Amino acid sequence: MSGAPSPARPEPADWSRLVRAAVGTLAEAGVEAPRVDAELLAAHVLGQDRGSALARILAGARPGPGEAEEFAALVGRRAAREPLQHVTGAAPFHGLDLAVGPGVFVPRPETETLVDEALRRGAVRARQGRRPLVVLDLCTGSGAIAAAVAVGLRERGIPAQVTAVELDPVAAGWAERNLTPHGVALRQADALVAGEDLAGSVDLVLSNPPYVPDAEEPPQEEARRDPSLALYGGGERGLDVPLGILRRAAVLLRPGGSVLMEHHETQGEELSAAASASGAFADVRVLPDPAGRDRFLAARRAPA
Ligand code: GLN
Repeated sequence: MSGAPSPARPEPADWSRLVRAAVGTLAEAGVEAPRVDAELLAAHVLGQDRGSALARILAGARPGPGEAEEFAALVGRRAAREPLQHVTGAAPFHGLDLAVGPGVFVPRPETETLVDEALRRGAVRARQGRRPLVVLDLCTGSGAIAAAVAVGLRERGIPAQVTAVELDPVAAGWAERNLTPHGVALRQADALVAGEDLAGSVDLVLSNPPYVPDAEEPPQEEARRDPSLALYGGGERGLDVPLGILRRAAVLLRPGGSVLMEHHETQGEELSAAASASGAFADVRVLPDPAGRDRFLAARRAPA
C-alpha cells in the first residue's frame, strides 16, 4: 500500500444533474414528455408532489442514501417504455390516485368525460326518485370509472349503490384495491352476462369496454403493456363487445336510466344506429371527448 492519498471521490451529482441526465435518456428512448416524466419519477423517489420536488431540485438538493440508485432504476424502466403509471404504481384519474401495474389497463384522461356525464345524469336521476341510485360499471379494469363515480356521487350527497364487474383476475385484483376504500362492490364476471339479479333496476350502466378494431396497432409503445383483453373489442371493427354491452344495458336498465359507453372514434354512427334500431333506447346521442372526437354513446332506456 502506498502512502499516496487516494484521489478525492467526486461529489455525488445533485438532483438537478440527475434529472437533466434522465431527460436525455428518456428523450433518446422516444418517451413523449421526457422532462415531465423525469420530474415525476424524481418526485416519486422524493415522496413529494411534482411542484415541491421541483422546488427542492432547483434549490440544489442532493439525493439521500440509495435515492440516486432508485431513481436510475425507475428511469431505466421508463426508458424501456413501461408506462409511467406502472413505474410509479399510481394513475391519476378524476382527482383520484389509482393503484395500477402490470396486467391492468392504465386509465386514460379522456374517460373522465364519461365520469362527468355520469355524475350529471346521476344528479338528475336522484332528484326524480327517493331511493339510492343503482350504478353498474362493466369492464371496470382498474376500477377507475366506478371509483370516480362513487366518490363524485358521495361528494354531491347522492346515495348510491355502485357495483363494478371485471372478468380478468389480474385486473380484478387491482380493481379491488381501488374500489374497496370507496365502498364499491366488485364482481369477477363476464360483463356480457353479469348482473342478472339487477335486471330492470339499474339507473346508470357505465362502460369503457374493449373496442379497438382488430387491425389497429396500439399507437404508442406504452399501450402494448395494456392487456389485449382490455383493448380489442372483437371483430374487424372492434364492435362485438360494445354491441354486447348495449344489449346487456337494455336488460339491466330501469326505464329512464342511462347507458354511457366509451367507444372508438369510428364507431359512433354504428353504435347509435344499433341503439336506436333495438327499440330499447330513446334519446340516443354520441358525445365528444375533450379533443372533439365522437367517443361516447349515451342513451336512455325507453319505457318497456
Ligand atoms: N382508448 C384506449 C386506447 O388508447 C382503448 C381503450 C379501450 O379499448 N377501451 O388504446
